[in-house]
Amino acid sequence: MTYIIKPKLHHPTLTPNAIGYTRRDYEGAISTMCAGCGHDSISSAVIQACYELDIEPHRVAKLSGIGCSSKSPDYFLGNAHGFNTVHGRMPSVLTGANMANKDLLYLGISGDGDTASIGLGQFAHAIRRGVKMVYLVENNGVYGLTKGQFSATADAGSKSKGGVVNEDSPIDLCALALQMGATFVGRSFSGDKEQLVPLLKAAFTHGGTAMIDVLSPCVTFNNHAGSTKSYDYVREHNDALNRLDVFFGRDEITTQYEPGSTVEVAQHDGSILRLHKLHDSYAPTDRLHAMRYLEERKALGEIVTGLLYVDQAPSTLHDHLKTVDVPLNKLGAKVLSPGRSKLEEINASLR
Ligand code: SF4
Repeated sequence: MTYIIKPKLHHPTLTPNAIGYTRRDYEGAISTMCAGCGHDSISSAVIQACYELDIEPHRVAKLSGIGCSSKSPDYFLGNAHGFNTVHGRMPSVLTGANMANKDLLYLGISGDGDTASIGLGQFAHAIRRGVKMVYLVENNGVYGLTKGQFSATADAGSKSKGGVVNEDSPIDLCALALQMGATFVGRSFSGDKEQLVPLLKAAFTHGGTAMIDVLSPCVTFNNHAGSTKSYDYVREHNDALNRLDVFFGRDEITTQYEPGSTVEVAQHDGSILRLHKLHDSYAPTDRLHAMRYLEERKALGEIVTGLLYVDQAPSTLHDHLKTVDVPLNKLGAKVLSPGRSKLEEINASLR
């Protein structure tokens, strides 16, 4: 987190959206991420998506766990509700908040360590229960906050900074979300705003359980040869900074490619990410097809990006539990305590 608050002044030429907010109203504190970190690009995409959708910032609840990714909500939607929970426990806190007030737009921000390791159970259960939310994973394959250990999404065969080869199979969070019943599943790349912003906008308006896995290079701890999630294009400079244990910024990795095509994105360590953008003709309404397609492309060494699956009539945990529309803190004492006869009626219905 940062203590550096941005000045409140707005530039007079900033264009307001339909509800009178400028893009500046969707920003947060000044980022303390390493310069060039993919997570900052994601924050910027969230800001853009909310601005374009005319979302009132105070109608958003952003919750996160622990890790570099989970710091990032501090850097966008400064006027939203926020809760930085503990490691891997964001989904249950989000579920609780969501049950208490269905009026807010719930945005869960997590990382590959927070979601695919310690929080894997929480992630799976929040999705299978149908919690209405947008669950965003900022996925770089390493624990950046604790200096670059492999996370559970690191590819088998990739090398750590110390030269250790990862022998474990990676967890594919999109495949898992599909299997667990998510009603909206997408994947993108932090450096491809052209794809990420519309994907976020679609997730925000989905109305079900949306999960987006965003590949987001860690420019500081994936800069070694053999990594498959980022690259170091100035290797010598990077060696120097590693010795000093001082991190200099890298350029943000960006890309643009057409639907249906595959692009090779050079990472900071010289390795290559092969991204395959779904073709416009891809029909994202068949869960089984989406699962098969992910596997087929994985066998070709490609990472599929785009909207993989959407259920256009999703049901949620609120539907399953038949919860009331009014937020719990707005219910009066009479409703919350309807009297002995009502209680006996409820008890009788449960016998
Ligand atoms: Fe981003 Fe990696 Fe720096 Fe963390 S350590 S802020 S993930 S570049």
